[in-house]
Order: sequence, then C-alpha cells, then structure tokens
Amino acid sequence: AYKQGGNRYECYQEIWTTKDDDQIALENDLRRALEQNEFQLYYQPKVNLKTGKIIGAEALIRWIHSKRGFVSPAVFIPLAEEIGLIEPIGEWVLRTACRQTKTWHKLGLEMLQIAVNLSGRQFYLPDIRQRVLEILLAEGLPSCCLELELTESFLVEHEDSSIQKLNQLKGLGLQIAIDDFGTGYSSLSYLQQFPFDVLKLDRCFIQNIDQNPKNKIIVEAVIKMAHQLNLKVVAEGVETTAELNVLQQYQCDIIQGYLFSRPIPAQEFQALVESNKSL
Ligand code: C2E
Ligand code: CA
Ligand code: CA
Ligand code: CA
Repeated sequence: AYKQGGNRYECYQEIWTTKDDDQIALENDLRRALEQNEFQLYYQPKVNLKTGKIIGAEALIRWIHSKRGFVSPAVFIPLAEEIGLIEPIGEWVLRTACRQTKTWHKLGLEMLQIAVNLSGRQFYLPDIRQRVLEILLAEGLPSCCLELELTESFLVEHEDSSIQKLNQLKGLGLQIAIDDFGTGYSSLSYLQQFPFDVLKLDRCFIQNIDQNPKNKIIVEAVIKMAHQLNLKVVAEGVETTAELNVLQQYQCDIIQGYLFSRPIPAQEFQALVESNKSL
C-alpha cells in the first residue's frame, strides 16, 4: 500500500481509509449473515478424564463468508457486540445448540451435555432467564444438559446484579461455567462471590505445562481449590499427551483440546460419539 513518492501522511490516510471501508463492509455483511444462513455451529468434544469418554461439547460459532471464507469469532463476536447484533446471533446459537443436542438425545446419545458461550450483552438482557427458559422448553432440552460459559471480564463492574442474574439462571437447573479462568484480574474473589459450577482453565496455563514448573504449580493449586469449592475443572486447549498426563496426575475432571479433537461440524461430532472414541 506504500506508494513511491507519496508522503507519509497520504500513505497513512490511504491505509486507514482502506481499513475503514473494510470494517464497514464487514459490518454490513455481518448484518446479513443470519438471514443468509452463513453461520454454523461447530462442536468441540469435552472428555471425562477418568472414563476417557465424550460427555458433551462446547458449541462454537463459525461464520462462512461468501468471499472471505471463515471469519474468526474472535473478530466478529466483538464486532457483533459493538453494533448491537449479538442478541439475535446469541439467540440463534443457543437455540441451534439446544435443538441439535435434543436431536442427539432422541438418537440415543442420551447423556450429552452442551456448553454455550454467552456474551456480556446477552447476559445483561433484563429477560435473559426468560429467553433461556423459552428456548429450553421450545426445544425440549432438559436444563441440566445445558451449561452457559461466561467470562469474568464482563462480570466485573456489576457485581450485585451479576450474582442475582447467575442465581436466576441457575434456578432453571442449568450449569454455569467461568471461562478463560485465570486471565482476568480478580479471579480468586470471583470464585468466592459467584455461584459457578464449572471452572475452565485457560489454555495459557495448559500450554507446555509438562515443561513449565510454574504452570504446574498454578494448575495443581487451582484444581485443588476448585474441588474444595465443589467446582468441576475443565482444561482448555490440551494439545499433547504430555500435557494430558500432567492434568491426569492433578485430577482435572474434563479436558477439551486439539489432542482429542478440534471443533467439528454436527455430523462429524455425532460420528465421533457413535464411534465410541475415547482418550
Ligand atoms: P473460547 O470460548 O475460549 O473458545 C475456545 C477457543 O479455543 C475456540 O476458538 C477453540 O477452537 C479454541 N481451541 C480449542 N482447543 C484448542 C487447542 O487445543 N489449541 C488451540 N490453539 N485452540 C483451541 P474459536 O472457536 O475460534 O473461538 C474463539 C472465541 O470466540 C471463543 O473463545 C469465544 O470467546 C468466542 N466465541 C466462539 N463462539 C461463540 C459463540 O457462539 N458465542 C459467543 N458469545 N462467543 C463465541
Ligand atoms: Ca468458551
Ligand atoms: Ca475459553
Ligand atoms: Ca478465550
């Protein structure tokens, strides 16, 4: 983009203009993505470390853009939050995930649980409890099979109301997981204040844990503490057998990561469960 002979200022301007246009184009495409059926849910298996069996999945949204191909949710979810689209998208994710899981139950895969990510804006909708309940009832999914994953980052500013909200949601009989645990600022006081059921240890603690004595110490301590607080622990981003072995040694409950499987389309996930693949 750097033109010979052009001065710096012009060059920057050109770059920014291009970025702006691209951003606007992406926003416009995102506004149409739902009705154009460009979203898909992928499912990443969650595996019980004791039995080695798949116990369920995390639903992860994919946007298959007609020209750009796969656009990362790390890019478009924050954008959707910003431009007020996260509510319909989040609702679509929740409904699709619940419907799919119910379909699997009907096919005899009875025990499967589904974890769905909830964005901050979704969580703070005044009628979020009602919306979740409506979807569970409409899709016929038992609430105990649904887990909502929240990140601590958006719980921070509104402590009282978030505790109330969490309790309202838990009142439906579903599970609440704290996602990306350890990456925020006040993780420990969160465990004390908020009624979580599941703690998801962020990938940054798991990566190369076998070679990193500090991470080992942290993970061992967090798992012990979580168990004493009656929380189940999910390790995210497990990529190697060496990492797995350490987690096994520390009695982590559930693992998720490329070692077992990447996130995959519904049909592939079903085939994987039916094949009885285990760790
Ligand atoms: P997350 O909730 O922390 O999801 C885990 C991310 O780690 C996923 O990225 C997953 O594909 C990736 N991952 C899983 N195992 C491994 C591994 O072994 N190694 C590595 N390197 N990565 C692994 P993904 O699907 O790109 O999603 C990124 C983020 O976008 C998610 O992070 C979540 O914050 C957000 N997101 C995805 N789907 C949704 C959704 O339906 N709703 C909302 N609100 N956010 C979503
Ligand atoms: Ca998650
Ligand atoms: Ca996570
Ligand atoms: Ca994350």
